[in-house]
Amino acid sequence: MAQTVKATPIEKEQVVIDGVDISGHWNRMFEQRVIFNYTPEHLEEIAALPGGESLEWCYQCAKCIGVCPVDIVGDYGPRKIYRKVQTGTVLAEDSDLWLCTTCRNCLRVCPKEVDMIQIMPAVREVAVNKGTVPSELQKAFENTARYGNPLGENPRKRADWAKDAGVPVPIMGQVRRPVDILWYVSTYTSYHQRGKDAARAMARVFSALGVDWGILGAEEKDDGDSQRLAGEKGLFEMLAEQNIATFGKYAFNKLVVSGPHEYNAFKRFYPQLGGEYEVEHYTQFLRPFIPRLQEMMKKPLNVKVTFHDPCYLGRHNGEYDAPRDLLRAIPGGTLTEMGRCRENGYCCGGGGGGMWLDSFSRDYTTMRLSDRRVLEAVETGADVLAVCCPFEVSRFEDAVKSTGNAGRLVVKDIIELVDESMRGA
Ligand code: SF4
Ligand code: SF4
Repeated sequence: MAQTVKATPIEKEQVVIDGVDISGHWNRMFEQRVIFNYTPEHLEEIAALPGGESLEWCYQCAKCIGVCPVDIVGDYGPRKIYRKVQTGTVLAEDSDLWLCTTCRNCLRVCPKEVDMIQIMPAVREVAVNKGTVPSELQKAFENTARYGNPLGENPRKRADWAKDAGVPVPIMGQVRRPVDILWYVSTYTSYHQRGKDAARAMARVFSALGVDWGILGAEEKDDGDSQRLAGEKGLFEMLAEQNIATFGKYAFNKLVVSGPHEYNAFKRFYPQLGGEYEVEHYTQFLRPFIPRLQEMMKKPLNVKVTFHDPCYLGRHNGEYDAPRDLLRAIPGGTLTEMGRCRENGYCCGGGGGGMWLDSFSRDYTTMRLSDRRVLEAVETGADVLAVCCPFEVSRFEDAVKSTGNAGRLVVKDIIELVDESMRGA
């Protein structure tokens, strides 16, 4: 059994050379490190997992720490995780396993391509198999397995939002005809109070543009991408098979999605299971319609807007401009950027299962990532924090309240702003 004693550098109390005391901080001297106290077998266990290989490549440069959103509200990052595993921590049993939001900012800067987006799901799968998953995440898994959505909502009510949309919402199982656009509404857009506002806005905008579209309604199930990243690969595969079977029942040209997580799932992971589609995030789909939208958006909103880049639209899939183009097209809207934006955008904390781990993370961080991000939005002097991910409206509205900024900042989905300007006319 290898020792798990941490290798601690020993600082000499005083260093005197030729009678000159040079024992200041800048001249600290160390004993040699006791490298035989390392526990390589823990690193080797992770490296042996499919997807876990790259943790071993870390050479401790610490570039990742400066960009990790969790380190900004805590003590975290790949360099630190590597070091802890190297000196005795079993990651599958440690709280660090659940703090990573898979935001991809570390991978963007890592010279060795240490890939937490693959490492974390691989080690989390070990924890899932051992049954050592935080209880709130476990509940989200169980809800997903039972109801097809992590909120535990009634699947039959998935399209209830449509009743108040003010325009007809075609449901594929009822209209029974091919459509140009199949709009995948997503779980939080279907059920969350504020998500439903965005859903209704989207229906009105599609309708005003004369788009030939439909939704799956009660047949739609969660895309499963966040469950996969949280370690429940089996659940992801089950949902993917069900959604692919449902998509296969209907004829459509393109999938348009409300959010970046389903975009990521349908574009990059469903094809591995036989589901290949042309997929666009709704901001990408609407971008070519901007000239027509500008004719219809008559009401100036007269607001200063700042935009939060969703990690899974921006860093993971390279789309930074479509949301901004739409925002710039809205009359009376001035776009102002936060310091951390685009490639270095700060994570809202909802990715990689973080959506269901806020209570757990509270014990290991000084504030929620969503709180930190709202403070950054407030710093810009913006009136509106614009988003285009269904996780974010709920997260940021909570954060606006918890940071004492209610009345100063409102959170709106971009589609709500478009709809507001159109309806104002
Ligand atoms: S940037 Fe990469 S190599 Fe450098 S410390 Fe972080 S994980 Fe290790
Ligand atoms: S993926 Fe994001 S949250 Fe996870 S370790 Fe890297 S920078 Fe930190």
